[in-house]
Amino acid sequence: MEEMNAVVKSKRQAGAQVTKVNTPRIKEHEVLVEVEATSICGTDVHIWDWNEWAQKRMKRIPIIFGHEVAGKVVEIGKYVTNVQIGDKVSAETHIVDNTCYQCKTDRKHVCKNMEILGVDRDGVFAEQFAMPEENAWKNDPQLDPAIASIQEPLGNAVQTVLPKEHVEDVAGKNVAVLGTGPIGLMAIAVLRELGAAKIFATAGGLNKVRMDLAKKMGADMVLSAREEGERLVKTIIDATDGNGVDVALEMSGDPSAVRQAFEMLTPGGRVSLLGIVDKPMELDLNMAMIFKSATVFGITGRRMFETWYQVRGLLAKPSFKEKISAVVTHRIPLRDIGKGMDLINSKQAAKVVLEPKW
Ligand SMILES: [Zn+2]
Ligand SMILES: [Zn+2]
Repeated sequence: MEEMNAVVKSKRQAGAQVTKVNTPRIKEHEVLVEVEATSICGTDVHIWDWNEWAQKRMKRIPIIFGHEVAGKVVEIGKYVTNVQIGDKVSAETHIVDNTCYQCKTDRKHVCKNMEILGVDRDGVFAEQFAMPEENAWKNDPQLDPAIASIQEPLGNAVQTVLPKEHVEDVAGKNVAVLGTGPIGLMAIAVLRELGAAKIFATAGGLNKVRMDLAKKMGADMVLSAREEGERLVKTIIDATDGNGVDVALEMSGDPSAVRQAFEMLTPGGRVSLLGIVDKPMELDLNMAMIFKSATVFGITGRRMFETWYQVRGLLAKPSFKEKISAVVTHRIPLRDIGKGMDLINSKQAAKVVLEPKW
């Protein structure tokens, strides 16, 4: 059997190993993809750091991790019909059973028996990886693999902005994005493209790289929660004629930001919650939601596959594509993955793309 290079989480502790493993063998409904670019997700940082979440969530060790990817199909299983050798693809990372209640009622992204690429099964920090044909999203062959690889988190951003069909239009609305990590930054660009009125971005700390990027993505006002303190919510309410925002997108998972999202919301407004909160938190439901008649969406994954079509539509516009590419602050070889983790942990980077250099 042939061998390939891969980043393997081989021990239940921090770090990972760059090592040789067997090339994956595909099943009848799967495709084999040669990796052209991958990017580091927050999930990968948790797995690398081996934090509490990773310790609980990761059942299979050793595992090749990583899930954000672009590559070229090099082999197809015998029952594969829609994907061909040579196709450029990215991965919808939620692998679903298509048979459970959720799958059969058009909610595949919350499939009860879901497996996640690079979490439950071998992922993409490798020369090659396997996935079901259904999960292969065909890319425009001209699209830069680095940009193609960030479509998965861009899809998270799009789903946070547009959680379902017939959600209220964001055009002309005042919107706050709480959190300036990569997905928050991408959401700002999406909102600008879709014609939002005023866009407010709030950052937890005073991260210059990310606050500058928030401006570049199109935020009208970028506020540091640390600097503003108690004034933060009032500043935003004042800047919206005393109304508060129509839509608040919570991208940080910081409990104080979650509370602020509801506080700055205009009555009858909408909140999308994407940031994952570490621990259970307290929230005054009466004031936050009930008396405000707030609409609240929990966001996970991407709608399969409506969100991908929305992402494709956005990236078809050169100006949007160019703007989004600024979120990729670093491109480094896969063998230097440890350096990529440091760049993210020290908040010097937004999105780090890893190129298949071993
Ligand atoms: Zn991801
Ligand atoms: Zn299912």
